[in-house]
Amino acid sequence: MVSTSMNHTHVKSSSAGASLDPQRIKQDFPVLQQEINGHPLVYLDSAATSQKPQCVIDAVNHFYTHDNANIHRGVYELSMRATQAYENARATIANFLGASRPEEIIFVRGTTEAINLVAQTFVRDRMGVGDEILVTTMEHHSNIVPWQLLCQQTGAVLKVAPINDAGEIILDAFREKLTKQTKFVAITHASNALGTINPVADMIALAHDKDIPVLLDGAQAAPHLPINVATLGCDFYTISSHKMFGPTGVGALYGRYDLLSDMPPYQGGGDMIRSVTFEQTTYNDVPHIFEAGTPHIAGAIGFAAAAQYILQLGFDKLLTYEKELLDYATKALIAIPEIRIIGTASEKVPVLSFIIEGVHPHYVGTILDQKGIAIRSGHHCAQPIMDRFEIPATVRASLAMYNTKEDIDALAASLKDVLEVFR
Ligand code: PMP
Repeated sequence: MVSTSMNHTHVKSSSAGASLDPQRIKQDFPVLQQEINGHPLVYLDSAATSQKPQCVIDAVNHFYTHDNANIHRGVYELSMRATQAYENARATIANFLGASRPEEIIFVRGTTEAINLVAQTFVRDRMGVGDEILVTTMEHHSNIVPWQLLCQQTGAVLKVAPINDAGEIILDAFREKLTKQTKFVAITHASNALGTINPVADMIALAHDKDIPVLLDGAQAAPHLPINVATLGCDFYTISSHKMFGPTGVGALYGRYDLLSDMPPYQGGGDMIRSVTFEQTTYNDVPHIFEAGTPHIAGAIGFAAAAQYILQLGFDKLLTYEKELLDYATKALIAIPEIRIIGTASEKVPVLSFIIEGVHPHYVGTILDQKGIAIRSGHHCAQPIMDRFEIPATVRASLAMYNTKEDIDALAASLKDVLEVFR
């Protein structure tokens, strides 16, 4: 039995108690304890990347301070510790997603790489000229461009299921787009630009009725919603560590084990092989066959610490608090007549996209920065959704459990200041 000094899932905020205390949670995040331009930092860009709690920073630090070595190859103590910590991280992410076994988790760079991997390994061989891949209007570019590349390679066609004016999928239209030619469905669980949570269980059922496999892009869902891939019944699920309070440069692809077992390798290199000669190479087992080269070992360990952090806070409390915060923020913005919210779905993660009549979003972002408020302006890597609403860009406030009502008050007050300039 390999001993490990990896014991860094310590979380200050306990799940005991009635409700989530955002002030206390904020204390877990060192980066939030600073002033920007003379104001306390109000961080409202968590959909782009989330901040990291001390326990995640400690886990990465601990690995490099005590356990750093390459994995899967060494017979010495450090390498065995590093291997165990990395494989423990895989088990933690499997548990976080409700996968049936750790082998169903492939560590990748993030959602972008996960989708490209599925496109090039699972989907490519199934595609012929005229076959179709179905996505929705609200996809992030990383769930559009890999499919366009695949279409160029195979002669397949990308189809798009439309949304209504609230930013919700039109289920009847989605159903109609599932044709005999549809060979794969790739949809976002939650939209980064609008906040919409899609009725993914219904969408999966509709696709599976026609034996069409489904990938869910969970980049924006995983930090806010409990995910259970078994209950959802999806074939693939993708997440990015940095959106869920973990390090950048690492993420996970969940794939059903029977599907992964039949897939060819993605990239060639070390660790994905069993034996190599110049004449012939045999490949390693799932999941290692998909993890060529030295992975982001410390990243995976930090990722697992982040997943533990969320689980220990408790999704029930997280859901209750974030709904309360989203309602509070929505009311605060609606109260400003010049603001139009883009994305008013009935089910949303805490993302608020909006435009201010006559004021360019980048201008809003720059003025708010002077008040210490970090907010995103632009197309949010979802240009087709901007086209759908016939706007070039929005301002986006994206919230996390470390945001407080005071943060929202600061945002509303600063937006009123912006408007004063234009009156
Ligand atoms: N999908 C969605 C819905 C996203 O919000 C993002 C990141 N903004 C991505 C995919 C891509 O994630 P990453 O950049 O971590 O690969």
